[in-house]
Amino acid sequence: MQTALNVYNSKSRQVEKFEPLNPPFVGLYVCGPTVYSEVHIGNVRTFSSFDLIYRYLLHLGYKVRYVRNITDVGHLLDDTSEDRISKKARLENIEPMEVVQRYTVDFHRTMEKFNALPPSIEPTATGHLIEQIELVQTILDKGLAYESNGSVYFDVEAYSKNENYGELSGRNVDELMANTRSLDGQSDKRHPADFALWKKAEPQHIMKWDSPWGKGFPGWHLECSVMSTKYLGRSFDIHGGGMDLKFPHHECEIAQNKAGFDEEPVKYWLHTNMLTFNGRKMAKSEGTGITPRELMEGDHPLLSQAYSPMTIRFFMLQAHYRSTLDFSNEALQAAEKGLKRLMTSIQDLSKLPTSDVSTVQIEDLSEKLYAAMNDDFNSPIAIAHLFEAVKWVNLIKDGKETITPNDRDSLATLMHAFVFDVMGLTDETSGDDTEKIDGLMEFVLQLRQEAKDNKNYGLSDTIRDRLKELGFEIKDGKEGTTYTMH
Ligand code: AMP
Ligand code: ZN
Repeated sequence: MQTALNVYNSKSRQVEKFEPLNPPFVGLYVCGPTVYSEVHIGNVRTFSSFDLIYRYLLHLGYKVRYVRNITDVGHLLDDTSEDRISKKARLENIEPMEVVQRYTVDFHRTMEKFNALPPSIEPTATGHLIEQIELVQTILDKGLAYESNGSVYFDVEAYSKNENYGELSGRNVDELMANTRSLDGQSDKRHPADFALWKKAEPQHIMKWDSPWGKGFPGWHLECSVMSTKYLGRSFDIHGGGMDLKFPHHECEIAQNKAGFDEEPVKYWLHTNMLTFNGRKMAKSEGTGITPRELMEGDHPLLSQAYSPMTIRFFMLQAHYRSTLDFSNEALQAAEKGLKRLMTSIQDLSKLPTSDVSTVQIEDLSEKLYAAMNDDFNSPIAIAHLFEAVKWVNLIKDGKETITPNDRDSLATLMHAFVFDVMGLTDETSGDDTEKIDGLMEFVLQLRQEAKDNKNYGLSDTIRDRLKELGFEIKDGKEGTTYTMH
């Protein structure tokens, strides 16, 4: 039952049984961030959704290689041919790699706060230029790309003779080719639908490399074709990203892979829906790109308070990854309350009174939880079932339901597995270490006092010295022993 996972494949537009190409191994590739600014919580939603998917696959026992790239070159601004990172570097008068370093570190710190597991491999576009140049050459040699004025473009018309460009996004290639508007200022292209594999760098362009076609830089779509296949093979299981990447990014990736390697690259395409604001995609360019930092500090006119990363994560998990989720202060407040109830209930579990019979059905609950997650990772339904357990815990506390010791253990195991391992939530209230450290120190100091009382001064000195090495300075005073932590 646990392995009957079904996923919605956005390419076939159908729910399909998940059958990895080479079980128990699963290759998962997710398009990572373009590191030119702080991520906004829309980006965090997409990466958290894939964290849930990654965690659930691991929970089912798959051996997952999770590759998520860092785009550190080649992501052009829509309206110009300027690279996002170069632009930021130019505006701040710093090196492009300084921009990349700053926002890569920031991204890692952010995702750690949201308790997202790091990917197995996190390759960068600039670290794979040789492979990208090789793929451009392969596609050129096959007659499916052409060189024009120092740039190389993918020839959509030639490719479409045998393949279906538009198969993922459902776009019609004839319409795309007829759209002459997008040719403005890009007259090197033969056709409006063609896209850059390699771009010639203008003399003032800072990020550029030597290639057989002169100095330039890779097109944005190329890196993902190269890095996914390098680490996962030419045909791999899952490719993910936000819905907004379906076209052109993923459509172009498929075309590049098929042109270069003659293989269907991906078995399942998974696309996350957008975090919206007043019904529109949250986007920095629209001034609605709220950052995790603003949320955690409550530093935004829309917010009445600060929210913890786990509240934000829980808020996101309450929507299915393929549904839109509208951001609001009220929804976050509700999530904060819900999360608190869930965590309190988990804390209460170990203290629940037990009896000889159970009136609650743990097996049923387990089946429902797996059924929800097996239904294309349906976290909101799984959360609804977890709240049934919360209700039980309260009824058992009040003596209105009963549970055996065995069932209580099973319920604890089940809730821990789903809440902590699969959903990736943590109990922020029990994370208050000062209380724990206080308790622990009280205990150690009591043992030291006992050693002294027994005139075992060797042991009491060892305890003092060892504590000092660990950063705890202890002082014996008239009112007893106190400690300070360094
Ligand atoms: P970018 O750095 O712009 O390439 O975006 C990183 C990831 O965040 C991509 O997978 C995007 O699809 C995703 N993304 C961007 N905006 C949103 C949004 N408002 N909601 C959810 N995901 C988003
Ligand atoms: Zn990508």
